[in-house]
Amino acid sequence: MATDRVQLYDTTLRDGSQMEGISLSVEDKIRITRKLDELGIEWIEGGFPGSNPKDAEYFRRLKNTELRNAKVSAFGGTRKPGTTCEADANIQSIVAAETPGVTLVGKASLFQATKILETSGEENLAMIAETVKYFKALGKTVFFDAEHFFDGYFGDADYSMQCLATAARAGADVLALCDTNGGMTTRRMLEGIAAVQQRVPGVRLGIHCHNDAGLAVANSLAAVEAGVWQVQGCVNGYGERCGNADILTVLANLKVKMGLDVVEDEQASRLTEVANYVSELANMVPNPQAPYVGASAFAHKAGYHVAGILKDERAYQHINPTIVGNQSRVLVSELAGQRNLLMKLEELGIDYPFTQAEIRTLLNAVKHKESQGYQYEGAEASFELLVRRTLPGYRGPFELDDFVIVERRASAPADGEGRREMLAEAMVKLRVDGSLQHTAAEGNGPVNALDLAARKALTQFYPDVANVKLVDYKVRILDSKAATGAQVRVLIESTDGNSYWTTVGSSTDIIEASWLALADALEYSLLLARRRAGDRADPGA
Ligand SMILES: [Zn+2]
Repeated sequence: MATDRVQLYDTTLRDGSQMEGISLSVEDKIRITRKLDELGIEWIEGGFPGSNPKDAEYFRRLKNTELRNAKVSAFGGTRKPGTTCEADANIQSIVAAETPGVTLVGKASLFQATKILETSGEENLAMIAETVKYFKALGKTVFFDAEHFFDGYFGDADYSMQCLATAARAGADVLALCDTNGGMTTRRMLEGIAAVQQRVPGVRLGIHCHNDAGLAVANSLAAVEAGVWQVQGCVNGYGERCGNADILTVLANLKVKMGLDVVEDEQASRLTEVANYVSELANMVPNPQAPYVGASAFAHKAGYHVAGILKDERAYQHINPTIVGNQSRVLVSELAGQRNLLMKLEELGIDYPFTQAEIRTLLNAVKHKESQGYQYEGAEASFELLVRRTLPGYRGPFELDDFVIVERRASAPADGEGRREMLAEAMVKLRVDGSLQHTAAEGNGPVNALDLAARKALTQFYPDVANVKLVDYKVRILDSKAATGAQVRVLIESTDGNSYWTTVGSSTDIIEASWLALADALEYSLLLARRRAGDRADPGA
């Protein structure tokens, strides 16, 4: 649903993918486009067809992709100095993308035009005018991204205004004001917006904020309050340096806090899912502290906070988390008492009539594990397994009999400079339903080898194990004074493509700690697979 008050414009596929560490395949980009379409985003900037063949391929495939809500725009610069649109290869690649919209980035700063682009102020204005007119004549919706507008305005206000007025006269549908370097404070940014509203009244404005001063979302919302029509941003705040405005946070604030129905309620309730989905495809670990959608966004630890939300959830939550598809969580720790544990059990959906004595035993078990270096706050999957193992009738899917790790250096140098790679081989003895499995595998390190050997033994019994991927592996030394004799805690984050879960292992031996976390990760994946199969078999449950 689009309101006529504000428009959401996503640039994850172009600006967001410029983030360090992100590389999206054409297929990833198509899948993200569909997801953003489902979320109800109005415009999606698909990429820069002139910059690489991958983006050009994306636009070719997009022609056969049906979208329900969103329209896609192709991004590129104004024509190069001293040429024509017809002769400019980048401009022609945007034409070839055959999208309903084009987003033209042009310098809106005299300093940038003369010093960085090395052209004259007049030529830059001609480039803006001709390129906008060129695409309007082709019937496109034209977004003019006024690059460096705010910095330009505070340098040479008149020139920056001329750039905008030129684009408006040439027929641009939206003038997107860019805080390209992300350094604007809110008051200065609003001053620039007010000046534009005076100089080019009646033209729709957009805002494009980077987060270098930590203000991208706040500035975007302030711009909307000041009358700006279009907000640009990226899922999970991805983007170069400190990222772009997080479009999910912006969306949630517009919808929940400012009462602007930018998307339907049902679409808003997918926000958390969209955040995780895009992290998965971008191969980025989700940020637990992300507003609204992070795993910790509604997590409660301190005993009196928990006591408070037991009386009323609003006590320590700014919204009902289900509005954005998230949920409250109670963190289990030695600080927390029986009440936390009870809430936690309810939250995990463990439907078992615990007696007071059983609860006390369970709590002592948690405390005992914590004294051994375990911590369940970041590892709820291990916590759930700890509880389920105490329930009558629970049988673990496998047992480890023994493992041996052999590490050696490869015989040939790996890098041609005489540095030989380390290789590890793991031999694993596992028991599944009483039958002993003996497997071996080689890996680039002991944990990798152990993981591969264990999977080899398990996949023939549990094919779902093949879908599990380790996303993150963290080691913490718990008693740094004891140096190499210290207790080590290993946290492993895994995914099966649908859910993420974290498991923990602790030992004085790093390999054993890793194995414990790994075994929990695999056991939990099977629990999830069983649960999902159960849901399918009995949709009424
Ligand atoms: Zn940008």
